[in-house]
Amino acid sequence: MSYSQQVFDELSARYSYQPEFLQAVQEVLNTLQPALDKNPAYQKNKILERITEPERVIHFLVQWVDDKGEIQVNRGYRVQFNSAIGPYKGGLRFHPTVNEGVLKFLGFEQIFKNSLTGTPIGGGKGGSDFDPKGKSDNEIMRFCQAFMTQLFRYIGATVDVPAGDIGVGGREIGYLYGAYKRLTTSYEGVLTGKGLHFGGSLARTEATGYGTVYFAQEMLKDRGESLEGKVCAVSGAGNVAIYCCEKLYQVGAKPVTVSDSRGAIYDETGIKVDVLKQVKEVERASLTRYAELVPTAKYVPVAEYPEGKHFVWTVKCDAAFPCATQNELFLEDAKTLLANGCKCVAEGANMPSTIDAINCFLASGIAYGPAKAANAGGVATSQLEMEQNASMCAWTFEEVDSKLHNIMINIHRNAAETAKEYGAAGNLVLGANIAGFRKVADAMIAQGVI
Ligand code: NDP
Repeated sequence: MSYSQQVFDELSARYSYQPEFLQAVQEVLNTLQPALDKNPAYQKNKILERITEPERVIHFLVQWVDDKGEIQVNRGYRVQFNSAIGPYKGGLRFHPTVNEGVLKFLGFEQIFKNSLTGTPIGGGKGGSDFDPKGKSDNEIMRFCQAFMTQLFRYIGATVDVPAGDIGVGGREIGYLYGAYKRLTTSYEGVLTGKGLHFGGSLARTEATGYGTVYFAQEMLKDRGESLEGKVCAVSGAGNVAIYCCEKLYQVGAKPVTVSDSRGAIYDETGIKVDVLKQVKEVERASLTRYAELVPTAKYVPVAEYPEGKHFVWTVKCDAAFPCATQNELFLEDAKTLLANGCKCVAEGANMPSTIDAINCFLASGIAYGPAKAANAGGVATSQLEMEQNASMCAWTFEEVDSKLHNIMINIHRNAAETAKEYGAAGNLVLGANIAGFRKVADAMIAQGVI
């Protein structure tokens, strides 16, 4: 039995109750064996056993009082997964589905993604099963303060630097940052995604969505194609999806769908990004509101999705951008996309495609950009925010955007060249996994058993 299979079997037995974590590990281990065969030092140093176990998992109680005066109880976590190449870095997710297994999947992905950015940041992730939906601003503030009252002792500008993720945007980061400052009396770059007037970076809000489109452009360039004139299906309607749509227009493409947890929008004339921002960033409303404001939009509630399929992936498109959440694109969806002529899939969300769907895309030979490469622009720009905070200066939007663009070009090149080196040209899953892994594994060996 191969080394990677043996480690995976042991992990599956130990963490059978964490399916998302096992799925993320399986996706990586499926591709690493050639690199493990090439360098026996990885097995000798038990790198797989060590890299699949978080260095630390912090689990804490978050108690707060809602607007009715009732005490509310949530669970908070920070998974400090791997610090071989830099301080832990990764977002905070506030969503009712959050548990330790989900955060371990996200933290594990983050190790390789952060390594691929070429910047010195380790992997981490955190969050809570708190549901921000329907909460007042004051409730959000009290929750963030209670969460930080526990978290502040484990993070710091050179220790662990959280950012946003699902349910954590500029508003939440502001409240979390204020609470950290009050508790520590220190004004430092401990969180990224901050407001522009207190240490935030221009282009951070746009970075993940923009970066995903830059990555798709690179994949298509390699095939002598471009996004210009392409019809695109986008899922999600949050931070990543909005700025993915915005950048698609800028490169001459047309996004025709978006979705949220309750339904999807199809508009063959193109998604209206200004209306989407108003509905999701300002009103924090459902997409039914978007349909009220845009007469050409068709709203399809989840209950009316075709059996076993996500509506968004049934729309005829040239390129697909899953930007909502994990496991939102199944084998059937992948087959439908391919049958409809889709030639490019770039993942803005983390682990949106199931392993079957990924294998289907790889077998078809279309341009497929896995999340840890295609959506690394967000964390890369967070690192640029850390750089600006450390040097107490602020760069222009154009400077940050151009650095982001170069980082995405380099990530693509690194993944593509690594795939070629291992005789798997075009397989960016293998290329990204091996390129991300090697750097972290070599650093772990160099630092000894610590
Ligand atoms: P947001 O909270 O801004 O938006 C998430 C969107 O996805 C919302 O439209 C939400 O719908 C929808 N959604 C969330 N959960 C589900 C679900 N279970 N089923 C259907 N729809 C769902 O999050 P982001 O845009 O920041 O994150 C989206 C994805 O991108 C996540 O996978 C995240 O990990 C990943 N990512 C984010 C980065 C960032 O910089 N923000 C960086 C790299 C990756 P609703 O509005 O109804 O809640």
